[in-house]
Amino acid sequence: MEEQRQRHQRIVLLPCLFQGHINPMLQLGSILHSKGFSITITHTQFNFPNTLNHPNFNFLPIVDGFSNCNVSSVNFIDVISGFNSNCKAPLQELMAQMMEAKEYQDEITCIIYDEYMYFAEAVANHLKLPSIILSTSSATNTLSFHTILQLLKDSHISTQDSMSPELVPELQPLRFKDLPISNFNNIEDLLQLIAKAHETRISTLHDRPFHKIAPAASSSLMEEDNSCIAWLDEQMRNSVIYVSLGSIASMKKKELAEMAWGLANSKQPFLWVSLPDGFKEAVGERRCIVKWAPQKEVLAHSAIGGFWSHCGWNSTLESICEGVPMICQAFFGDQRVHARYLSQVRKIGMEWENNLGRGEIERAIRKLMVDREGEEMRQQAMELKEKIDDCMKEGGSSYNSLNVLVDYILSL
Ligand code: UDP
Repeated sequence: MEEQRQRHQRIVLLPCLFQGHINPMLQLGSILHSKGFSITITHTQFNFPNTLNHPNFNFLPIVDGFSNCNVSSVNFIDVISGFNSNCKAPLQELMAQMMEAKEYQDEITCIIYDEYMYFAEAVANHLKLPSIILSTSSATNTLSFHTILQLLKDSHISTQDSMSPELVPELQPLRFKDLPISNFNNIEDLLQLIAKAHETRISTLHDRPFHKIAPAASSSLMEEDNSCIAWLDEQMRNSVIYVSLGSIASMKKKELAEMAWGLANSKQPFLWVSLPDGFKEAVGERRCIVKWAPQKEVLAHSAIGGFWSHCGWNSTLESICEGVPMICQAFFGDQRVHARYLSQVRKIGMEWENNLGRGEIERAIRKLMVDREGEEMRQQAMELKEKIDDCMKEGGSSYNSLNVLVDYILSL
């Protein structure tokens, strides 16, 4: 009954087209659809999602001028800024057409946009539509950005501090080098981008494991190779380390070679996403290599005993939701914040500096997968998983806050 009443209300979602941003936005879309709203996804043409996996959504492309661009940590900020300058007029035109079109009999209730697509705020204001921002990183990362912007404004820190190993007093346990502005060579551009993204932010911050609540439609940009599940079925419980360093971290050949030898020498079975050709000979028999894994299914598999991750927020949430302890090899942005909290606060991750040699890698893998220290982390990770499960049950905090969101949208 409630669903039928809401179905004439449409929510427009605007994701930012990187894998780690698309996933939570489409999961939120599935949750809101299950609550009775109609969903339109307006999306840039760059990294076009597979619309066939989402028959319940209506997809509308906007022109972005980025169709053939390769994104890495080096040009990330330019690409985001490019979206924001190129896409405002096309989005405004598209939304205005939608609001006039007869086929959209249901009323557009609001726009929910990714925090990096901040041009949407001006479009929403122009069309007198309410808007909501989805931040796809952790609440901790968002709060640390707020503090950094304030500290810089008050001259308590400077951007030159960003590689220092000293603790930041206001943000313990973070050190300057863990701040989400470190490891960017264009910090000033990044800060401008973040300041713009944060300008219009509302004050409610929650970390929600949408993927555990949303129906499991895939929003992968690459085809998932499910053959690794059959391989995992043959491995012993908690014996396999899963290795995936995200969709945009880039590594040097030498580092990859050390990883490959460290893994092979550890004698633990491993599942590795995206190992380039040329290394496969080095890594021996006890392994499965895929170009893209069904990660959530992999992490939920009983054979997985550890996750060597770059600590992107989706990967971090997916891992802790399954009680899997982590090796945290962060590269840039929020990854360092998560690595620090996983190791220092939650004690379910081993923090890892970059450029380790194969001997150190081998020892660390054995520590996580075989030694008592790893067992203790696995235990802690299971305890955290149980707490998360409770949050999602009826009456739990995640369950309740999604209802609060729905009530809020209905009140607009
Ligand atoms: N992912 C996947 N298969 C892979 C590697 C990654 O499905 O082989 C998914 C993963 O489950 C996560 C997303 O890609 O949802 C990566 O997002 P994250 O925030 O962890 O990192 P990013 O790629 O944004 O750095």
